[in-house]
This record gives sequence, C-alpha cells and structure tokens, in this order.
Amino acid sequence: MFKRRAKKFLKANFEDLFFFYSYLKTKLFYVVIFSFFVSLLDALSLSMFIPLFEVASQTAKSTDNKLSHYFISFLEFIHLEATINSVLLLMVFFFVLKATFRYVDVYYRNLVNSYFVKMIRIELLNMISNVKYSKFITTDLGTIQNSLTTEVVNVNNAYTHYISVIQNSIFIVVYISMSFWVNSKFTIIIIVGGLISKVLFQKFYSNSKTLSFSVAKKNNILASLLMQQVNNFKYLKSTATMPIYSKKLEESIVNIENDQLKIGKISARILSVREPIVILFLAIAIFIQVNVIEGSLSSVLPSLLFFYRAFNSLMSVQLSWTAFLKYVGSVEHIVTFKADLNSEAESIKGYDFKGFTKEIKFDAVTFGYQNEDKVLDNISYAIHKNKTIAIVGKSGSGKTTFVNLISGLLVPNQGDILIDNVSIKNYNINSYRSKIGLISQETVVFNDTLFNNVTFWSEKNEKTLEKFRSVIEKVDLLEFLERSNAKEDIMLGDNGVVMSGGQRQRLSIARELFKDTEILILDEATSALDSQTEKLIQESIDRIKGSLTIIIIAHRLSTIKSADTILLLKKGQIHAEGNFQDLVKNSPVFSKMVALQEI
Ligand code: ADP
Repeated sequence: MFKRRAKKFLKANFEDLFFFYSYLKTKLFYVVIFSFFVSLLDALSLSMFIPLFEVASQTAKSTDNKLSHYFISFLEFIHLEATINSVLLLMVFFFVLKATFRYVDVYYRNLVNSYFVKMIRIELLNMISNVKYSKFITTDLGTIQNSLTTEVVNVNNAYTHYISVIQNSIFIVVYISMSFWVNSKFTIIIIVGGLISKVLFQKFYSNSKTLSFSVAKKNNILASLLMQQVNNFKYLKSTATMPIYSKKLEESIVNIENDQLKIGKISARILSVREPIVILFLAIAIFIQVNVIEGSLSSVLPSLLFFYRAFNSLMSVQLSWTAFLKYVGSVEHIVTFKADLNSEAESIKGYDFKGFTKEIKFDAVTFGYQNEDKVLDNISYAIHKNKTIAIVGKSGSGKTTFVNLISGLLVPNQGDILIDNVSIKNYNINSYRSKIGLISQETVVFNDTLFNNVTFWSEKNEKTLEKFRSVIEKVDLLEFLERSNAKEDIMLGDNGVVMSGGQRQRLSIARELFKDTEILILDEATSALDSQTEKLIQESIDRIKGSLTIIIIAHRLSTIKSADTILLLKKGQIHAEGNFQDLVKNSPVFSKMVALQEI
C-alpha cells in the first residue's frame, strides 16, 4: 500500500525524471555523482580563502571561525605548519582537483546528451516504422515530422535544463550542508528565507508550464498546416486561394508567438525580482546574526561564502527550471505520442515467409474502416500463383482496400487471408511483405542514383550489377541508362525529376523485379500516363506476366485486356468474375463500362 502510494507520488512529481531515466539509466546516476564531487571540491577550495586571510592577518589562532580551526588541525595532522604557503598549496591542490572533476563532468554530460538524442530519435523512428498502416493514415503528417525534428530537440533542451536543475540543487545541498557544519543557526535563518521565496515563485512556474504545453500543441498544428501548404502549393497558387490559406497560417503563428510572449513575460518577472529578494533575505539574516544572536561577523563569513555560491546555484536552478518549463510541453508531447504509437504497433512475430506455391485466399473476409459501413462484405476468393488478376469497379468500390488486405496493411474485421492454407497472421509480416512489390500512381523515387533506386542500396558488385542491368533491360530503360555518362550512377533528383512519368513507372517495376517480388500490386499505376506511355508499360508488364503473381487495379479497361481473371467489385462484393471476353458477354455492368470507354 505504502509502496504503491510512494510510487504514485514519485511518478506524479518526478514524471520527467522517470522519462529521462528510462533512456539513460545508470548514466543519470553518474551525472549526479560527478556533480556532487565538483560541488564538494568547489566548496572546499573556496573555504580555504578564510584561513588564508586569517593566517595572513595572524588571527588564525584566536578566531571563532570553526572552519579555520578545522583547517589548521588538518594541516597539523599532515605535519604542515599553518603558513600562507601551506594554505595556498592546499588551496591550489583543491582547485586543480575540482577542475579535473569539472572537466570529466562536462565531458560526460555532453556524451550523455548526444546519447539521449540518438536514443530518442531512433526509438521514435522505429515506432513510426512499426506502427500499423491503419494508424498511420489517421495520424497527421505534420505531427510525425514535427515530433522527430523540433520536438526531439526541445526534449533535449528540457533534459539539459533538468540536469542543470539537479546539478545546481546538489550544489545547493552541499554548500548548505557545509554552511550548517560551520554555523548552524545562521544557516537555519537563511534556509527559512529561501523557503519563503520558493513559495513566492511557485505560482509563476505553474502558469509557465501550462503555456508551454499549449505551445507544443500549437507548433504541431502549424507544422501540419505548413506541410499542407507545400503539398498543395500549385493548387493554392493557381486558384488564388493562397491568401485565404496563408491567413490561417498567420493566425497560427500569431497564436504561438502570443503564448511565447506570455512565457517570456513570466521569465522576465522572475529574473528581475530574484536578485533584490535574495539580497534582502541576506541582509535580514546578517542583521539577525549580529543584532539578535549577537554572533561575530567573522563566524558567519564562511557561511556567507557558501551561501553566495548556493544563491548562485539557486539562481541557476530557477533559470534552468523556467527554461525547462518552456520545453516540458515537448516532453509531454513525446510521451503521449509514444504511447499512441505503441498502442497501435504492428506485431512482427511469426514464421519467416519463404514464398507460396498455390494460392492467396480470401476466406469470408469482411472489412470496414472504423465503425463505418462494410467496404468489403464476406468476400471469398482465391488468387492463384503466377496469375494476373485485375480488379475493377467504380471509385470507392473497395479496390485499394482489397489490395491493402493482401499486403497485410489492413487486417480483416472478420474472416481471414490464407496463403497456401496458412493464415497470414502466422507469418512475420515483414518477411511476407518483402515478397510484395507495390507500384501506385505516385511513383516512389528517391533522390539518389539509378542503381540505388533500383537495388534499394544494395552493395555494388558484379552480381548485383548484372542483375540490375537485366531488370533495366526488361523494363526498357536501357536507353535511359546508356544515355548518361554516369551510367547507373546517374542522379535522379527530387522525385526523379530527370525522368519522364513513364520512365519513373518503369523504374518502379525494375525495383520490384530486382528484389524477386512474388506478388506485384499495380494500383492505378498507369492512370496518370498518356496512352502511348501506358502501352509501353503494358508491354513491360506483359513481358513478366506468368513469372509472378500480378494484381492490377486499373481504371482504363484497355490495360487489363490480357489479365487471366477480372474481378468486378460492387457494393463490397464480387459482382462478376472471368476474363475480359467472358465479362463483356456475361456482365451487363462490365460491358457498359467497356462501351463507355469505347474499347
Ligand atoms: P477504390 O480503391 O475502389 O476507389 P477504396 O478501397 O479506396 O476504393 O475505398 C473504399 C471505401 O472505403 C470508400 O468508401 C472510401 O471512402 C473508404 N475509405 C478508404 N480509405 C479510408 C480510410 N482511411 N478511412 C475511412 N474510410 C476509408
């Protein structure tokens, strides 16, 4: 019971620490240890100034300063006389030791910092790669991009400031302990003052925290709006709708900056009132010490020195804490984003898929997107190996959904997909997908060489080069390859700008052939091309027909004339099936579609 409560308390109050700890583990512990030694050595070296002055002024023996007594006893213990030289020697020794620790401390902190960013980025990347497709399509792209870039940097800033808070807090504890050791009464007075000032600042902090979270959220919205503007630039420009859209962007920017301004105001207030408050408390404490307790000023000197340092650290704590609060919203954002991705992660357990020999079978498959109507309703159908299947139907009839089920991007709500009578669920989904090739209307071309685009960054050697040339030949890109001096190393530019639409599609086919695809999906692959280019691609496809299973979704019926079977989807069901001639003869819906396209 108590343990659970303690855990709950810790989690609620040190949630961010838990977050950092989850990545850094013992590294965090070492950061704390180094801080402790740095502050201890700093306090020791600093405190040497007082014996130094007292030895110099020959008052060391008569002083009521505890610290001087300790040092003189220590010097006697190591058989040194308390002279200026011996005190100086000890002081230099402490300072050098402190500098050494300081070096290790700063170096190690930087090391941990970059480790932290690396871990968090890699983890997020993996999570995004592993998230279910159904989750991906409902996640805002701006959020994904912003999380991986800005938010990770912000989280690192949050971490740096948090560590600074911890480190300076340790400094404070060490300095105050030292002060307590030399003059307990005076120390207590100052601690009380410190606590009062903390209460005063508390309110500012909570405001700043809420605002920071809101800024993180708004930044995501802005990133998303910006991305949509870039994506739809042409439309916005040519229809003069840009000003309307830009206004939305402007509002979003103004909104964020207003919040930032508020955070800035709070920081400014904290910054400006802090020092006068500190001085006021110190003045009161010295006044009490001298007038009420009637202690000597010299007995409080070491404490003042420690407190001077402690206050410096306190200022750093407050500064770092304010800075931390500016970024804490990003930590919360990443925590929620991670939990969200995690809850929708794809399971990649199961047997390795080695290929299939007979068929891919839809066994009473029903599918609908979140709570909506059934897109596919109780479909049973077997696709035989190395056959070419075409899927036709009106827009929205479920063709893409059908192929997304085949590639395992979507999972049936009811029924199952069996590969040679084994459920797709039993396979490691990635090993299964490595046998799938996908070519859609939006070609996938990376800003890299032709070779890397086709081979997906395979190592270049005799074998891969030979295979590369053979697939290039199959898709009729040999001429393109030979034309450039760079040959296979020709750079294709952003989205393959140096290629025509048809060449980009043929490159996509080459890529799928290179990886020994068993199931090739063409989703409206040629819809955006002119009929001449489409014909060329059709020829490339005809050349590979029969050597792998091909599933074609096509709008233009001329492209599927040679398919072994055509499935006509209507209202979530297979309305008709057969080859082109069969369907023209037997399906009035199909023959009407053919007539409309004047084939
Ligand atoms: P087609 O490829 O035949 O044009 P789709 O398979 O893309 O059809 O879509 C079938 C139906 O599913 C449509 O009514 C469409 O509105 C709906 N749909 C497609 N994708 C989603 C989605 N991500 N969320 C909700 N509904 C969707």
